[in-house]
Amino acid sequence: MQIKDILKSRNISLSFEVFPPKKESSFESVRIATEEIAALKPAFMSVTYGAGGGTSEYTLSVAKNIKEKYSVPMLAHLTCVSSDRALIAKRIEEIKEAGISNIMALRGDLTDELENSDRSKWDYVHAVDLIYELKQKGDFCIGAACYPEVHPESANQREDIKHLKEKVDAGVDFLTTQMIFDNNLFYNFLYKIREAGISVPVIPGIMPITNANQVERAIKLSGAFMPQRFRAMVDKFASDPDAMKQAGIAYATDQIIDLYANDITNAHIYSMNKPDVAAGIMNNLSAILGKSFLE
Ligand code: FAD
Repeated sequence: MQIKDILKSRNISLSFEVFPPKKESSFESVRIATEEIAALKPAFMSVTYGAGGGTSEYTLSVAKNIKEKYSVPMLAHLTCVSSDRALIAKRIEEIKEAGISNIMALRGDLTDELENSDRSKWDYVHAVDLIYELKQKGDFCIGAACYPEVHPESANQREDIKHLKEKVDAGVDFLTTQMIFDNNLFYNFLYKIREAGISVPVIPGIMPITNANQVERAIKLSGAFMPQRFRAMVDKFASDPDAMKQAGIAYATDQIIDLYANDITNAHIYSMNKPDVAAGIMNNLSAILGKSFLE
């Protein structure tokens, strides 16, 4: 099933992101964790793509396994900046052969090596280059990334939204946001991109912070704003792992309920291969997810 059709239904739903193993030896533990998350029957699941190509084949192995065993619609991430056209063509064919028709088209982060190399020699400079290629190569439902708090390389939000519109115009069916901890940033962003003529569905990305170590890493990766309410929670519970986990799940649940209450029908959870966290959120929302409040 294509994600654009799930989003069209306007039913309240939840989806989860997982990541593939970095090496063969951890494949089994990732398989078990991702299967436990799939057993919760989310609306769909996404599998990230390790930048740099080396372990990138595991993305598809994880996605294929879940699709075949649990029939959960799968979204395979694909990054392009560190790849050449031959590798991307191979990956696209593999995704097709696996019967997966949802692709998250990403540029990927720039490594130091890339930063110092000659851009004119790159096969792909921006995600939009991959989106054009995907449109030519099959009937894919294409997702792309967006940044309510502005991508760190953009000079300002206007420029970032201008490039976002180019991606959407190239054939994107839906957008997923970088993690947000303050829903108001998402609502403001939505208003601005609608004003700019971007009308595809936008799925907010929610990261449940369930241990204190995650906080620094999450800020470093995303540059996300941490509201005072969130900081107070971490300050209070960071030293007690069980309490921190419970509080982190509650905070994420609260964000999701606020989104649903404001007619945002989907939330994508960065579940970090943690079935207990995914199940905790699902349980907190069981009655809400059981029925649709919208027409
Ligand atoms: P782009 O859309 O190319 O944007 C990157 C920057 O370039 C932005 O500042 C943009 O404004 C600017 N830009 C875009 N087009 C142009 C243009 N034509 N001219 C000039 N400037 C332009 N990384 C992974 O390695 N693997 C993953 O699986 C992964 N999944 C992700 C999922 C989500 C939902 C998100 C939000 C991010 C994910 N990332 C992942 C991280 C992502 O690869 C980085 O944020 C990366 O730096 C940007 O990727 P992009 O696709 O947004 O790039």
